Amino acid sequence: MARPKILIIYTGGTIGMIENPETKSLQPFDFTHLIDNVPKIKMLNYDIDNIQFNPPLDSSNMNPGHWVDIAKSIQDNYADYDGFVVLHGTDTMAYTASALSFMLENLHKPVIITGSQLPIGEVRTDGEENLITALQIAAATDKEGHPMVQEVAILFEDYLWRGNRSTKMSADHFNAFKSNNYPYLAKIGLGIHFHDEALWRPKAHRPLKLQTEMDTNVMFIHLFPGITEQTLRHQLNTPGIKGIVLKTYGAGNAPTEKWFIDLIHETAERGVVVVNVSQCVNGGVQDKRYMTGNVLANAGVISGHDLTSEAAITKLMYLFGMGLSTEQVKKYISISICGEITVL
Ligand code: ASP
Repeated sequence: MARPKILIIYTGGTIGMIENPETKSLQPFDFTHLIDNVPKIKMLNYDIDNIQFNPPLDSSNMNPGHWVDIAKSIQDNYADYDGFVVLHGTDTMAYTASALSFMLENLHKPVIITGSQLPIGEVRTDGEENLITALQIAAATDKEGHPMVQEVAILFEDYLWRGNRSTKMSADHFNAFKSNNYPYLAKIGLGIHFHDEALWRPKAHRPLKLQTEMDTNVMFIHLFPGITEQTLRHQLNTPGIKGIVLKTYGAGNAPTEKWFIDLIHETAERGVVVVNVSQCVNGGVQDKRYMTGNVLANAGVISGHDLTSEAAITKLMYLFGMGLSTEQVKKYISISICGEITVL
């Protein structure tokens, strides 16, 4: 049997950071340092190559251009590798995972994103285990020899999650990620236990296609009690804005005051796509449940159901990036493209 061939794409993040001796703050270091700290990788007996971002990034500096760089590295090497491991900072990992899931159309090989809370050189690091498990998942196949994972996923500590369903939940715990509205794809214990029914299976086996245009004329508006008409008007009239993720209360509720609804209605009438996503990390929008949600729907706001904020904003970037019209974007928001939303 051929040895699994895995490509590691090292973008940066805590996993590869070291302490600056003068400032004592963590800063990215290069990949050789990372691999030197995990001699156990050799015991896997895989063929592993790596690509490194130069310079490696703290993921707070990631932008759609970097997502394109990652996606292109995967596309350029797609035929030559069984799987891909992307090492990434945790801070914006869920955004990258969501974006890549849309950009890598017809993906049927594993793209496993991981990182760590403690740098790999530290005694108590979680990075070593995360990296090794990510490599094993990227190499895992079923009885017929097909990849177990055929989607973008986040591996962190005890779980493998669907990338476009994940959210960073903790700045402290090793189990830092969770997909609050979708079951885990695998549970990591003595073995790697895949949750077969939860894994994404592409319907047709089409060639990988890359969508590199991501339209950044999108924004979040996070509601809070006391938001003023002036603030909201200013936000809704941001020049060039095409899509807004409106972060509402509970099951998708918002104030019903006339000034508020009129402003939202005017915005939707102008052709801006306003998507309703709950501020709660668990559950989703049920905009017919309360009058306060129903009023929003009547004002032209589209329900984002159980989309994460990260998936909602990157999905808007992707759909507008494809040059779709307002009506088409509205239609595709509530349709599952790659398992990011529960279709009711
Ligand atoms: N600030 C770091 C980053 O996101 C945090 C981490 O890697 O966990 O790059």
